[in-house]
Amino acid sequence: MKNKKENYSMETKLIHGEFKTLKWDYSHHVVPPISSSATFRLDSSQRGAKGFIDFAHVEDKTIPPIYIYDRLGEPNKDILEENLAFAEHGEIAVTFSTGMGAISAILGILLKSGDSMICHRTVYGCTFSLLNRWYPRYNIACEFSDLTKAEILLEKIVETTKVIYFETPVNPNLEIIDIEKVCKIVADFNAKRSPENKIYVVIDNTFATPIGQRPLNFGADFVIHSLTKNIGGFGTDMGGVVIGKKEFHEPLLMYRKDFGAPLHTKSAWTILVHGLPTLASRLQQQQFTAKIVAEFLENHSKVEQVFYPGLASFPYFKLAKKQMVDHDGNFVPGTMIYFTLKEKDATKRQELGIKFINEVAQNSYAITLAVSLGNIRTLIEHPSSMTHSSIPPEKQIADGIDPGGIRLSIGLEKSSDLLSDLASAFEKI
Ligand SMILES: *Cc1c(COP(=O)(O)O)cnc(C)c1O
Repeated sequence: MKNKKENYSMETKLIHGEFKTLKWDYSHHVVPPISSSATFRLDSSQRGAKGFIDFAHVEDKTIPPIYIYDRLGEPNKDILEENLAFAEHGEIAVTFSTGMGAISAILGILLKSGDSMICHRTVYGCTFSLLNRWYPRYNIACEFSDLTKAEILLEKIVETTKVIYFETPVNPNLEIIDIEKVCKIVADFNAKRSPENKIYVVIDNTFATPIGQRPLNFGADFVIHSLTKNIGGFGTDMGGVVIGKKEFHEPLLMYRKDFGAPLHTKSAWTILVHGLPTLASRLQQQQFTAKIVAEFLENHSKVEQVFYPGLASFPYFKLAKKQMVDHDGNFVPGTMIYFTLKEKDATKRQELGIKFINEVAQNSYAITLAVSLGNIRTLIEHPSSMTHSSIPPEKQIADGIDPGGIRLSIGLEKSSDLLSDLASAFEKI
């Protein structure tokens, strides 16, 4: 008798995935080939007509799909989507060309003019810019609140509220939001609302990865990822995904069809073949190193505070231990570190942060000054002047983004090399 896939671990399943699939006749390939065809032969107008009727409607995995045109769907994206949905314990996944494409799509299908949303006060810079710069033009208001205090929702949710949106851990300062608590409060509001008027919880799970945290299990409605980061892992491709319930498959596919921004086929292939299968082992090794680096920083005389979910001194340590766990229940504090430098004056602290970053950029070999994260290379950046510069300085401080704060994304290098690069940069400031 054939061994059942269900009996294997998530790590193993992410390597083998759905490579034997009806999505394409790949039955003799160990690795699926890159499908590189913008359009597909239809054999007859009847088959073409059926393809259009079936599009976004057929959920039965035993029926081979009729492919029409890349923007509607093609084998590499479809197989990747099956594996991503599976990794997050979601029913369906729809990929996009970038993480921002995925965020625009999920908000695009959930919100309309006159609706409003509530977002944690600190989010990825471009997400903030999307909600702050563009949505008001479509008459969609966003209230930025401190969701680390979930009870705040009791007073902030109003009749027009349709979406609660946040990241956890939060970019860049790694604050942790209690997913279960937020979802419970929202469920109480929903119990008094009609189904059409429901409030949805959307969580950006890019930092934690599906190995380290599964928000859908805590009651969230949707998870989004920037596939450009941890899941892609090698920094070669951009991508995004929305994962959630079956009933949203159609609107998400329709949105992608009409607004565009499908994931590039060759990027889908890279993420499917290299990224996702290596995610668990990359994460394990990078996290091992992150703990060593975080402890080194914590003991350094020029460091004021280190934020790393795996340190006992981390302000949200208990909550992190509860919700950031792998498929076997082990704590997964992750690979991101945020730290501040010792200097009382905020302006001087910013100058010191920039000086430190420039030292690393010019002299270090193992640490690279670059935005992005979740890469096999260790990346460093200064959020205040870079990724979060779209947020005004006064608001940055109020939102917990320190003017001198430094963000590190730990890669696969040997920890001793990272420590020596950091130590020599500290000596210069
Ligand atoms: C990078 C990032 C995004 C945006 O993803 P892109 O692929 O760059 O569009 C969204 N959220 C978080 C937390 C990110 O780090």
